[in-house]
Amino acid sequence: MNVIELKNLKKTYYLGKLDVPVLRGIDLEIMQGEFVAIMGHSGSGKSTLLNILGLLDKPTEGSYKLAEVEISNYSDNELAALRNHYLGFVFQQFNLLPRLTILENVALPAMYTNLKDKKAHEDPVKLLNMVGLSERISHRPNEISGGQQQRVAIARSLINKPLIIFADEPTGNLDTKSAKEIIKILKDLNNAGITIIMVTHEPELTSYATRTIKMRDGLIISDEKTTDKSSTVAQQPTRQFKYKSFSLSRVKDYFIQASRAITGNKMRSILSVLGVMIGVASLIAMLAVGAGAKKSVEKQLSSLGSNLLCINPGVTKKGGISYETGDYMKFESEDVDDIKRNVPGIKYVSGYKRGRVQVVANGNNHNTALFGVSVAYADLKTSHPSIGRFFTEDENKERKKVILLGETVVEKIYKDKKFNSIGEYVKIDRIDFQVIGVLPAKGSNGWQDEDDRVVIPLSTALHRVMGSRRLDCMVAQVKDGADMNEVAEAIKKRLLFTHRMPPSAQDAVEVSNMEDLRKMYSSTVRTFSILLGSTAFISLLVGGIGIMNIMFVSVSERTKEIGLRKAIGANNADILFQFIIESIFVCCVGGIMGILLGTGISVTISKLAGDWKTCITLFSVVLAFGFSVLTGLIFGVWPARKASLLNPIDALRHD
Ligand code: ADP
Ligand code: MG
Repeated sequence: MNVIELKNLKKTYYLGKLDVPVLRGIDLEIMQGEFVAIMGHSGSGKSTLLNILGLLDKPTEGSYKLAEVEISNYSDNELAALRNHYLGFVFQQFNLLPRLTILENVALPAMYTNLKDKKAHEDPVKLLNMVGLSERISHRPNEISGGQQQRVAIARSLINKPLIIFADEPTGNLDTKSAKEIIKILKDLNNAGITIIMVTHEPELTSYATRTIKMRDGLIISDEKTTDKSSTVAQQPTRQFKYKSFSLSRVKDYFIQASRAITGNKMRSILSVLGVMIGVASLIAMLAVGAGAKKSVEKQLSSLGSNLLCINPGVTKKGGISYETGDYMKFESEDVDDIKRNVPGIKYVSGYKRGRVQVVANGNNHNTALFGVSVAYADLKTSHPSIGRFFTEDENKERKKVILLGETVVEKIYKDKKFNSIGEYVKIDRIDFQVIGVLPAKGSNGWQDEDDRVVIPLSTALHRVMGSRRLDCMVAQVKDGADMNEVAEAIKKRLLFTHRMPPSAQDAVEVSNMEDLRKMYSSTVRTFSILLGSTAFISLLVGGIGIMNIMFVSVSERTKEIGLRKAIGANNADILFQFIIESIFVCCVGGIMGILLGTGISVTISKLAGDWKTCITLFSVVLAFGFSVLTGLIFGVWPARKASLLNPIDALRHD
């Protein structure tokens, strides 16, 4: 039987506009069981011919029958399966995968064989025993000599019981002794019935061959049979050819290969993981800061109480010019009562007079915020004392020297937050105030400690402490169900009326709705979050580009690996799947570490910021993780895909 039959086979390389004919019409028949040596000067086209015979490269034109089947129009995947099932390769450069052990290298082609045919495999240990390397099965290729590596390559070529073994200058890189061992092994295999086609430029090796073909300038110039070997060999039954492009049953093998690639090149893996990790961590941390800020503002806004209107003296303008003095509306304590009595829809209203004072008692001295307020303050601000009581309307009217302390003030003065200060006296501006209550703890609102304050009756503040009768502002709480805007308008109208100002002096008083303030705050916080988010997104992108760089840097090494895998029968789906698993794994590890790191950073920020809590949202975790896995996947698989589209031989030659 003819295992190979070529008719007018041509190969031309196109280099730009220049045609380089390398094979210029080859007719050749090779019988099963032959040992063919191909000789010729360098550049005569020997390797090109061998690569085409071995289905690693495609002819430009002509007919090629392998085992009497015309294959010149087979698809890449069909050719991959043919290489895997029927052909074995021995290269001058051995082409073992450096990170696999000897045993794994030998068994590698079996991974790409259909499961149904698995029983057709040789035992890799037996093969290594045959080539005399049974002691070295767990070594790596770089731990053995060149001659030994070539013996491993021969064992690898035998794993699927090939019909033909192709060897391109198999002894070219070896010393004479190793060369002899290799050629003897090949001869033994030939004696066992395997067809061998070998390129060599060493004439002494041709004595082992049964036939010697000489080439020059892309043509066969002589063809001599030394023995008619073919007739003596029993015909091997032609195995039925089955082709399957991709099988899920190989998933385990893909995982093993991927984990090999990851653990094999630690630096590359670590850098990739690092890239993903930094991207994920920064995105999570920044989004957490944004979400935390939002929450804190919302909390603070809600602590202000609901349905509140702030009434501030505004500036009246005449013709768009604001005047320095005289045109402000001056609030006095009478205004508080007047509004309460005359504007419908108001539940509580309190005047405010603020200042900073020195509180002295118990030998200590503390600077704090003083609030002169109306009795309604307790309800308005939900500030009913935690111990003691609030002051009464009578005490306010009589300008009583009573005071409520915030927890922080208690702590500063009495050195104990829980100290029962009721009945004690504190001095403010040399005036003695009696403590009647402690304000409920409110914590910090992000900018200030709400417990670092003292509260006294408004009249006391106006007449005894601050030395000015003018209120800073008033705060009103609107009854449930009343329209905030209507009440605000009514307050304005009333104030303009009582202060004898024309209704046109709209700017003299400013009534702001807390709801508006809330909205404004929220939109500010949203902008802030977007800013942080986009910064984080950029860092994620930078991480992604880092991954891409690393993947591209390693592409030449990977291209060689891909070439070898394709040469021994992997198809494009096999290659892609391995790389996808590898990338997903790297990204997931990086992603998980990034989540942990990002959480750690957020918690640290929380700690450093005191009461202000960062807030990690599920959304940010999913976003960060999803995005990084996606970038890793794209940049990890893209170079692999590029490489997998090359001819096996071009990929193998890549450098
Ligand atoms: P041999 O193995 O006999 O030394 P080759 O088959 O490797 O020769 O190469 C034959 C000719 O084809 C050489 O002139 C070489 O430069 C050319 N050649 C081989 N591969 C390529 C390629 N990929 N692109 C362009 N020219 C090539
Ligand atoms: Mg060559």
